[in-house]
Formats: sequence, structure tokens, C-alpha cells
Amino acid sequence: MPLDFSLTPEQEEIRALAHQFAEREIRPVAAEYDEREETPWPVIRKAQEWGLGAAAALPIEYGGGGLDHLTRLLVIEELAWGDAGIAVSISASTLAGAAILAMGTDAQKQRHLGVLCDSSEVRLGALGLTEPESGSDSLALRTTAEKVDGGYLLNGTKQFCTNGGIAEIQVVFASVDLSAGPAGVAAFVVEKGNPGMHQGRKERKLGVRASHTAQVILDDCFVAEDARLGFEASGESRGPGAAGAMATLEETRPGVAAAALGIARAAFEYARDYSLKREQFGKPIGAHQAIAFKLADMATEIDATRLLVWRAGWLANQGLGFAHAEGSMAKLMAGDVAMRTTVEAVQILGGYGYIKDHPVERWMRDAKIYQIWEGTAEIQRLVIARAILGIRI
Ligand SMILES: Cc1cc2nc3c(=O)[nH]c(=O)nc-3n(C[C@H](O)[C@H](O)[C@H](O)COP(=O)(O)OP(=O)(O)OC[C@H]3O[C@@H](n4cnc5c(N)ncnc54)[C@H](O)[C@@H]3O)c2cc1C
Repeated sequence: MPLDFSLTPEQEEIRALAHQFAEREIRPVAAEYDEREETPWPVIRKAQEWGLGAAAALPIEYGGGGLDHLTRLLVIEELAWGDAGIAVSISASTLAGAAILAMGTDAQKQRHLGVLCDSSEVRLGALGLTEPESGSDSLALRTTAEKVDGGYLLNGTKQFCTNGGIAEIQVVFASVDLSAGPAGVAAFVVEKGNPGMHQGRKERKLGVRASHTAQVILDDCFVAEDARLGFEASGESRGPGAAGAMATLEETRPGVAAAALGIARAAFEYARDYSLKREQFGKPIGAHQAIAFKLADMATEIDATRLLVWRAGWLANQGLGFAHAEGSMAKLMAGDVAMRTTVEAVQILGGYGYIKDHPVERWMRDAKIYQIWEGTAEIQRLVIARAILGIRI
């Protein structure tokens, strides 16, 4: 099937809308939220009103906007161009949404996605897979789900949870049978206000500081049987947890890549414009070949990244999946390119790049997480290597 990347008029329109939102509503407040490390509730609310919130990507039948995969990626690139931390706050609920879509029964989707799509107020979602002792080896988790009368008792700690403690619904992965390894993993939805769940330490971060990251503590947290995702559908004691966790990450990786792309583009544009204005040795620094070539490399890598991101969106739109780890390729490339581009942008601004008067130092701090979360760059390489070699490494 030939790849066709020509955008429809509707896609062009929503991309322009997202850009306008980023320019008008995100950029002016980005430094402030970064400085204060605060959740940008009013901006999340406005994004929702503009039809650009997390619900935009969820299916229409559950109250969402029904955006196709590629269009969602266009929106994320623009929001992250505005500011990555705020973009995360706006769209991170899609992680919980993707998990519910991947594993939930129709009744569970109606109930929980309905919460995320409720436009009357801001209601966030969160997903807790990572634990203090299990990060990259995510299925080696220690949180337990003990079967009790009428439901389960969850016990454990979820680490580095985006929106953890402030989300209305929290998808939590836990083991119903530690001796079974990954096969014992199941996913549960815990609703805000459950007395057995509370927020632990709120993390202080290098970047994406407008996004809330915290530990989530589960202490004899009782959930009813129907909180277990897919439970009714499988009818077995083993739910679709492990495969569901992997399916969720596969689904969301292109979005993470699109956000990294947005940061890279922001840094490139800023450095390019600066290089034409700043003069040293009697000419704009952009006219010195060393700087011009940096910009040429940045532009090339950004375009190459966008092709990978759009390919992932296109494949998802065709329902073809990522048989050759195309989602991981996009995420790997985008994270590395965002990091390289932002470091070079700081270099192009010289001393001014290191100073908070310009946003490039913030973008450099923000970029780093894209080589770490939702599978580190090393783990993406592992996934890609397995796909191309066809062997377990
Ligand atoms: C700001 C932030 C937000 C996050 N949000 C969420 C969230 O919402 N939900 C959630 O569940 N998690 C979240 N995470 C967790 C994130 O996904 C993990 O931090 C990440 O997967 C890496 O796990 P780790 O930090 O335990 O590192 P480790 O797994 O301990 O890795 C340490 C280093 O070893 C390398 N490594 C590990 N195994 C291998 C291997 N087999 N081969 C080669 N190298 C290897 C890694 O690449 C890394 O460089 C978040 C993290 C942060 C920092």
C-alpha cells in the first residue's frame, strides 16, 4: 500500500488550531509553570474547550472526539511545540485511556472513558505500571492484587506516576499471582477517593515541570471485581494484563515521539532565527559555516523524525500495527533528535542559551525525558533489534 502523507483539509485545520492554541495559550505561561512546578489546570481546561484535550483522541462512541491517529500526532506536535510540560498535562490521560481501550470490556470503556470525556470539568487519568524495583523490566512488578470476597485488595507502590494522586481514574497494574510472573499481571481501575489509595512523594524534576509526577501508594486498597480490566470478557483468573500493558505502550509511543518532535522543532526555529540576528566577527553567526551546518543537521533530523512519526500514525490509521517496531523507531529517533537539537540550540545561543531569558535551556531540560519514559532509548533499541533479528535478546 503506498504511503500517502498528504493532509486532508480537516487535518490542516486542526493542526492550525493546535498551533494557534500553543502560541496563544501555552507559550505565554510556559516559563511560569516550569518555574512553579505546578499543574496548569486553567490551560488543561481551555484545551478541553478548544477540542484539543485528551478526550479528542478517544472514540466518539465513548464521548471522545474520535481523532484518527495521524491527526492526534499533529495535535501533540503543536502542543509540545508550545511547551512539553503543559502538553503532557493536557494529553497524559490518553495513557489511561489507551489501557482501558486495550483491555476493558465495553461496559468498562463506557464507564471509565466517559469520565475522561466529561467536558463539564477537568478529570484526568493516570497509569501506574512502573514501581520502585521494576522500571524497564516493567512486568516484574511487586504490587499485589489479592482476591477477596467481592473484589481485590491492592498493595504496593507505583513510582513516577504522571497525574498520580490528582487523577480521577488511575489504571494500576498488579499481580494476582506473583509466582506466575508476567502471566499473573492484571490491570485495575482505581477511582479517586478510594481510601486505600493515596499520593506519595511528588517528584521534583529536571524538565516537563508543568506535569505532575508522584508516587501512588496502595495500602489494602479494595476494588470491586469489575474494576479488573477485561475480567468479565476473559472470564478467567488470568486477565489480559501483561499483553495489555505492552499493547498500551505500543499505542502511545508515536504520541510520545510526536511530542519530542515538537520540542525539537521549537528549538530549531528559535536557534535559526537567533542565528540570523546575532552578529559576531562582522556577520550573522548563521553565516559562519559551523553554525549553518548545525542548523542544516537539525532541520534534516527533524524532517526524518517527522516521516517516522507520520508513518507510525499512517500505519495505525490503516490498522496495520507495528510489525517492524515502527512505533519504537519513531520514539527512539524522536527522543534522540530532541535531545541533540536542544543541546545544539543552546550552543547556538552561546551564553544566552544558558540563561532563563531564552526558552532553549527549558527545552533542553524537557527533551531528556523523551529518552527515558515509556521505555528508555535502550529498551526501544531492544524492541527494534528483536523485530529485525527475530530472536530474543
Ligand atoms: C517524569 C516521569 C514520568 C513518568 N510517568 C510514568 C507514568 O505515568 N506511568 C508509569 O508507569 N511510569 C512512568 N514513568 C516511569 C518511566 O517509564 C521509567 O522511569 C522508565 O521506563 C525507566 O525505568 P527506570 O527509571 O526504573 O530505569 P531502569 O529500568 O532502572 O533503567 C536504568 C538504566 O538501565 C537501562 N536498562 C535497563 N534494562 C536494560 C536492558 N535490558 N538493556 C539495556 N539497558 C537497560 C535503562 O535503559 C536505563 O538507562 C515516568 C518516569 C518519569 C521520570
